[in-house]
Amino acid sequence: MSIKATLSFTICFLYLGCIVLFSQALRSEPFYGNNSIQKELEKKRIHTRMEEQWVLPAHFQKDSKKIFDTERAQLETELGTIIDKKALFDDVLYPYVKAVHAKIISANPSLPLTQVIVVAEATPNAFSVGEGTLVVHTGLLAELENEAQLNFVLCHEIAHYVLQHTIKQLTGHIEHLQSKEFQNELKKIQASQYNQFDLFESLVQKMQFKSRYHNRLIERQADSLAYHLFINTDANPNQAQRLMQLFQDIDEPLKDSLLNFEPHFGCSKHPYKKSWEQQKKSVWASAVSKQNIARQSLRDSLKTHPDALLRMKWLDSLATNHQVKTLTTTASESLGIRRVSAIESVEAAYRDHDYDWAIYTALLHQKAYPEIGYFKDIVALCISELYTHSKNHTLSDVLAQTSLYYSPRYNQLLSLLNNFSLSDLLLVRECLEANTSSNSEYGLFAKYLYAQISGDSAASQEAKKKYLQQYPDGRFKQNFSNGN
Ligand SMILES: [Zn+2]
Repeated sequence: MSIKATLSFTICFLYLGCIVLFSQALRSEPFYGNNSIQKELEKKRIHTRMEEQWVLPAHFQKDSKKIFDTERAQLETELGTIIDKKALFDDVLYPYVKAVHAKIISANPSLPLTQVIVVAEATPNAFSVGEGTLVVHTGLLAELENEAQLNFVLCHEIAHYVLQHTIKQLTGHIEHLQSKEFQNELKKIQASQYNQFDLFESLVQKMQFKSRYHNRLIERQADSLAYHLFINTDANPNQAQRLMQLFQDIDEPLKDSLLNFEPHFGCSKHPYKKSWEQQKKSVWASAVSKQNIARQSLRDSLKTHPDALLRMKWLDSLATNHQVKTLTTTASESLGIRRVSAIESVEAAYRDHDYDWAIYTALLHQKAYPEIGYFKDIVALCISELYTHSKNHTLSDVLAQTSLYYSPRYNQLLSLLNNFSLSDLLLVRECLEANTSSNSEYGLFAKYLYAQISGDSAASQEAKKKYLQQYPDGRFKQNFSNGN
C-alpha cells in the first residue's frame, strides 16, 4: 500500500485567481525555441545539489535509509520529467521571474544560493524543491497582479528552502513510518480479519490530519521569514496580504461559472444542442486512464486553499511593525506577463495531447483576452485532433471523463466532448472556422488540419503552401503529410 504517496514534496500549493504585469506589447503566441541544452544543464545542477544537500540523517539505518534513498531518487526522476516536458526557458517569462528573483537576492545578500525555473502548467502553483530550486508555474503567473506579488511568492519559497522544510518533512515522515506506534497499528490492521482496507484508510487519514496541522505551522514559519526578505526589497508590504486575498477570493476553479459553450460549439448553420451537455451513464470506467498531473495538482490546490485566510491574518500581525504603503498597483501592471503566461499554460496542455483541458483553459482565457487569436485557433485545432482520435478509436487516450473532483462547468464540457459524434465534431469544427485566423501560424495549421479531416485536398494544399511560405521554419513544419 502506498503510504509514501501521502507525502507531498511540494510543500505549498498556492491557489489564486485574477489578473498580471508589464504594459508593453509582448508576443501573442507560444514560445518556439530549442531549450534542450538548458534543460540538460538544469537537470545536472539539480542532481549535484541533491547529492550535496539531501544527506542521509546519521541515525537512519536499513529500512529508513532505503526509504530515504528511494524518495530522493524518485523526486529527482519526477523533476527530470517535469524539466524535460515543461520547463520554459523563453524570452519573456523566464527573464522576468529571474529578474524578480535577482532583486530579492541583492536585497538579502546573505541568502544561500537558489535558482528559479518556470514550468508551463495551468495550475496556479509554486514550490520549493528542497535543494535550492524554486519552481513557478505559468498558471500562477497568469493570475498575479504585479511584480510585488511574485516577489512574495519567491520569498516564501526561498524561506522553505532556508528553513529546510522539505528535508525535515521527509525525515519526520520516515521516522513516523518506522516508529513503534505506527508499526504496532499496522500490525493490528494486518492481524484483523475484517475491514483491513477501511482500517488502513483511517490510519492514513490520521496521518494526513497530523501533517496538515504541521503544514500550517511550517507555512507560518515560511511566511514570517518571507515577509522579512520581502520588506528588504522595498516592495509594497500590502501586496503580501493582497496575494492571500487572491487565494481566498477564489471560490471555484478558474472562475468558470460564466463560461457559456453555446457560442463556441454552434452556429446558425449547425445549431448547438443542449442535449450534448447531458452526462452519459457508466462512463467513468476509463477515467483513470487519463489522470494527469495538472488535475492532481488542481485537487491538491483546492484542499489547501482555505488556509489563505489564516495566512492573511498572520501577515497582518507581522505588518504592524512596518509603515503601510498605500496600494497603488492595478491589474494592468502585469497584463503582458499574464497574457503570455495564459498562452503558455494552454499550449502546455495542447502539447500534452490534453485536448479537453486545452479547450477549457483556452475558452476561459478567450473571455479575458478576446484580442488574442491564438485561443480561438487552438480550440479549432483541438476539435480536429479529437475528430482524428475518435476516428482512430483512440479517443479515451486524449479525452477525460467527468469526475466528482472537477468543477460543474468543466464536467459539462467533458460531457459535451464525449457526446459529440464524428459528424458533430466536423460540424462544430465548421462553425469554428469563422473565428479561425487565416494568417497566423496556428490559424493556418488549424485550417490545414480541418481541410484534411473534411477531405478537401485543394484547401489542404493551399493552407500548407501558405503556411510554408509564411513560416518556412515554423513549429508545425514536420506535421504536414507529404501528399497534401
Ligand atoms: Zn509554502
